[in-house]
Amino acid sequence: MKRYRLRQEMNAIPEPPGKVWFWELEAGVIDAGRCVQCGTCVAACPSNSIGVHHRSGLPELVKMCTGCSLCWDFCPRGGLRYEALWPPSTVPEDDEGVTAGEARADPADTYWRITGGPPAEGLGAVLERFAVRSASRVEGVQDGGAVTALLVGLLAAGAIDGALVSRPSDDPDEPWRGVPTVARTPAEVVAAAGSFYNQTMALSALDLSGCDLPPSPRLAVVGTPCEVQGIRAMQARRWSTGAHRVDAVVLTIALLCTKSFDYEALVRRELASKRRVDLDRVRKLDVIRGRMIVEYADGEQAVDEPVKAFHGAALKGCDECGDFLGRSADLSMGSVGSMDGWTSVLVRTERGRQAFEQARSTLDVRELDDPEALVRLDELDKRIAVRSLQRKFDPDAPLFIDYEEHLRHYEGSDRRPVEQHR
Ligand SMILES: Cc1cc2nc3c(=O)[nH]c(=O)nc-3n(C[C@H](O)[C@H](O)[C@H](O)COP(=O)(O)OP(=O)(O)OC[C@H]3O[C@@H](n4cnc5c(N)ncnc54)[C@H](O)[C@@H]3O)c2cc1C
Ligand code: SF4
Ligand code: SF4
Repeated sequence: MKRYRLRQEMNAIPEPPGKVWFWELEAGVIDAGRCVQCGTCVAACPSNSIGVHHRSGLPELVKMCTGCSLCWDFCPRGGLRYEALWPPSTVPEDDEGVTAGEARADPADTYWRITGGPPAEGLGAVLERFAVRSASRVEGVQDGGAVTALLVGLLAAGAIDGALVSRPSDDPDEPWRGVPTVARTPAEVVAAAGSFYNQTMALSALDLSGCDLPPSPRLAVVGTPCEVQGIRAMQARRWSTGAHRVDAVVLTIALLCTKSFDYEALVRRELASKRRVDLDRVRKLDVIRGRMIVEYADGEQAVDEPVKAFHGAALKGCDECGDFLGRSADLSMGSVGSMDGWTSVLVRTERGRQAFEQARSTLDVRELDDPEALVRLDELDKRIAVRSLQRKFDPDAPLFIDYEEHLRHYEGSDRRPVEQHR
């Protein structure tokens, strides 16, 4: 705000009403510790004025801010209006008679609502739901490897030119840190398998200028629900784009998500320093059934604790989020609701259904085990979001319901070990 005041003092020209500057996003979201590191503001900025800070990984101003307001308008912790994600059929036609829905999204999708009444209740808009795993064994996947297999199938079918995913950082000092990358080959998709429990500013990687892609690329994006919200909001509203190719996104895959973490706080402080976890030996890091599980390559469990014990390392902005199910995605995929070794898949849109069919030969598909488990966890997630908002008025209000109650949400959703991949 200091710089904003300075600008006002130096500029005698009256400011048009309604402008929102980056510094207001900075004050209200980033400095307030509410940023969920989705990268939407970076992708939305038409003058490419927002970058990613090399140390904090947070958005920072790298060029002059023009006060266009778009970083604020599309930020899921700022001004993102959820009604902007409502059915594209409500978007008026432009001069050429093309609706934003036709131009940027699948006009057959009529259910983009994240909040509000039907069809946002229960699981939200769902055309089909399955438990899925990769038809062939893939190393390093998190659950059934369905995300990886689907992307490999789509690349093989020529349905996409690449996928925005997260791969391990190249920096040897950053074990278990995910960084965004555009995978263009099946090998690159497989190398990015598995979950990273840090946000990656994923949408900042939609600047495709350094990627070897066709002039009109078709991308799938794998992201947390807040990242998909950012894409959907930008697709639903026309604005003059900068370097970031939101127009290239033809498929969104949301990973079910109740919270993400700050890399330094989770991996270095909580795991390496406090619990003496040998990061070089770790084979898998998982948040599942309300527990944080860290497993070594030899099968030894280094950590098995309630995830609540790691709340101090979680992103504060995640508490405010009630979109566990990724309601605005084409496909929502996660572990809850199906047995170990399988991934739960909610097919939400025609585009999602088409992609699923195109990749079908790479997938083992069966009935979803426990859809109610998804609904229960979604309810819990929303209750925490409401509590988080209540705490703004009453800081002493407890954020969590008690742990026993937390665990009851997982009852009946046991993910028993089942036949592993051949
Ligand atoms: C932060 C986070 C929280 C999650 N919380 C839950 C939860 O509460 N409940 C639940 O059921 N499932 C949750 N998941 C999803 C779950 O961990 C699996 O990703 C999902 O079940 C898919 O498994 P898979 O074996 O099919 O995926 P894989 O085949 O292993 O592929 C996973 C894909 O996700 C990409 N990816 C990994 N990390 C990230 C990231 N941080 N941001 C963007 N893309 C990424 C990878 O690059 C890869 O393409 C969460 C995932 C993340 C990243
Ligand atoms: S939450 Fe996303 S859009 Fe908002 S400031 Fe953070 S990175 Fe930018
Ligand atoms: S909990 Fe919500 S805000 Fe946090 S990473 Fe997941 S989807 Fe994004």
